Amino acid sequence: MDTQERFHRYVALLFSFTIPVLGVVELTRGIGSPLAVARVAGFVALGSWAVYIALKARPKAVLLVLATMTHGGVLVVVESLSESESSAFDFATTFGALTVLSVLAGTLVTGNRMIWGSGIAGMLATWVIVVGALEGEVAQVVAGRAVVAAAGVLATTTLVSKLLDQLSEAIVRHDRSARLQDAIARCSEALLVQKDAFATYEAVRALLEASDADYAYIDRTIEVDGEPGWEMSADAAKRAAGYGSARRRGMYSEIPSTYEMLLEGQAAVVHTGTLQGRERKFYADAGILSEVAVPIFVAGVLRGTIGFVAYTDDTVWSDAEIQTLWRASHMIGSYWGRQDYAQELRASNESKERLLASVSHEIRTPLTAIVGLSEEINASRSSLGPEELNELNEIIAVQSRELAELVEDLLVASRADFGNLSIKPEMISLHDQVSRVLDGVRESHRTEKRVEAACKDVLAWADPLRVRQILRNLLTNAIKYGGDRIVVEAHCDGNASYVMVTDNGPGIPTHESDLIFERYYRSAESPTKPGSVGIGLAVSRQLAEMMEGSLRYVSEGSESRFELELPFLSAAPATGVEKVKVGNY
Ligand code: ADP
Repeated sequence: MDTQERFHRYVALLFSFTIPVLGVVELTRGIGSPLAVARVAGFVALGSWAVYIALKARPKAVLLVLATMTHGGVLVVVESLSESESSAFDFATTFGALTVLSVLAGTLVTGNRMIWGSGIAGMLATWVIVVGALEGEVAQVVAGRAVVAAAGVLATTTLVSKLLDQLSEAIVRHDRSARLQDAIARCSEALLVQKDAFATYEAVRALLEASDADYAYIDRTIEVDGEPGWEMSADAAKRAAGYGSARRRGMYSEIPSTYEMLLEGQAAVVHTGTLQGRERKFYADAGILSEVAVPIFVAGVLRGTIGFVAYTDDTVWSDAEIQTLWRASHMIGSYWGRQDYAQELRASNESKERLLASVSHEIRTPLTAIVGLSEEINASRSSLGPEELNELNEIIAVQSRELAELVEDLLVASRADFGNLSIKPEMISLHDQVSRVLDGVRESHRTEKRVEAACKDVLAWADPLRVRQILRNLLTNAIKYGGDRIVVEAHCDGNASYVMVTDNGPGIPTHESDLIFERYYRSAESPTKPGSVGIGLAVSRQLAEMMEGSLRYVSEGSESRFELELPFLSAAPATGVEKVKVGNY
């Protein structure tokens, strides 16, 4: 029940008590004449009507007040005409009562109060003139009384109405802001306590109930073929019709100006009638007359929107409603942020568990070989010849180096995670670095594969230790997974220096060409290799980026190529690619 209805009920209650009292006062004069009977009967009828209105769910008291006025006024006129004095109330009392009732009726009416007030004031003035004339009063006195009565009713009605309007406006504002506050509290409770999708549904329902909207929603931004769009995440409606016509997903290209506002971090207030072209069609097709949408950001990225929709009238959204949406948007943003964080944490835990499992597994093979061979050497030292001893020692050395390289990659990954990895760049010759790595790989890997290198006088500004680590990873990968011919080239194009490790093996399927740079990712297509943990390329790319370079995979025809780009510094002008055979082994 609103304030107006409450006011009407109070008036009806007041009448329920005062009219019987007036009836009793009339009874004290007796009911000897038909006029007196009509008077008392009128009070009984009006009193009962007042009780009936006071008990109604949606009381309206204007007619009751007007009828009471008519009853009192008409009986005075009839009394004057019949020249009998049957009432307990004289003219002056009735006049006073009618003036008060006129003001009351004027303030109770809805719509244009000035017109109603003037009408009621006019009626009162007419009554004053009629009774004055019937009583044969002096014309000036009657006219003066009529003017004072009419002006008094009009002025008081206007004043009281204004006050009442302001009061009820303030009450409505206060009510709405209290409801919105409550909605925000419910929203925050839902997002804090509930951990599933119902949290956002609960939040959006709370907001809808507190607003004037027909429909409220939360949607998430999506990408369809690289284009930004939106998908409904949670919604609630006050009317089934509105709910049915709401779309579940769409593209932001359909509503470019709304999207622009959202991207700029502003609330987008839409009145379909003021829009043009495609955008107008979008809202009109959805049956939307007006909408307000507020962006939801997570770590500075637009991740969705929250909004109110009006289907039934062109609602002007209040500041309080827009503020409420902003507050809800911040809460949902942080809720989504927390969800992202929890997911990252879960993924990181899983990846660490996977790493532990795979590292333990991969380390076991070379360690078993090292331990077994060392025991063999110890046990049969006297029976082993120098050549056999050398051979066994060499196997131990190869396995140990592989282990050391794996441990080095893991160490770099963990230092990078803790921000402890330092890069010490200097001017280096890529040719020298490639040669050193090839020498090392030659010692550690026995392979029939043909490895060629072509790197002449190309300089780069990089950390030699880390460049060698990257090259070692690329070369051992090419040997492990690649074809039988491997080529290492270096060149510069004036902007950057490049080292490319190309092999003619099966390569990596296109959909995996980025995945292989993720930690612990191993292509399902590659043959299973001992010592394969899936960390080498991830660490190598990280190191390249720390040196302000990059590492990428390019598939060219039947060749697969890893391209390491480093900041360029050239001592001699680059003269394209020159292949230098370093050796087969
Ligand atoms: P690891 O060698 O320990 O598995 P990497 O990060 O070095 O880890 O490599 C990730 C995956 O990329 C490998 O498991 C393999 O499937 C694939 N890969 C790397 N280099 C090549 C290559 N030259 N040819 C084919 N596949 C490769």
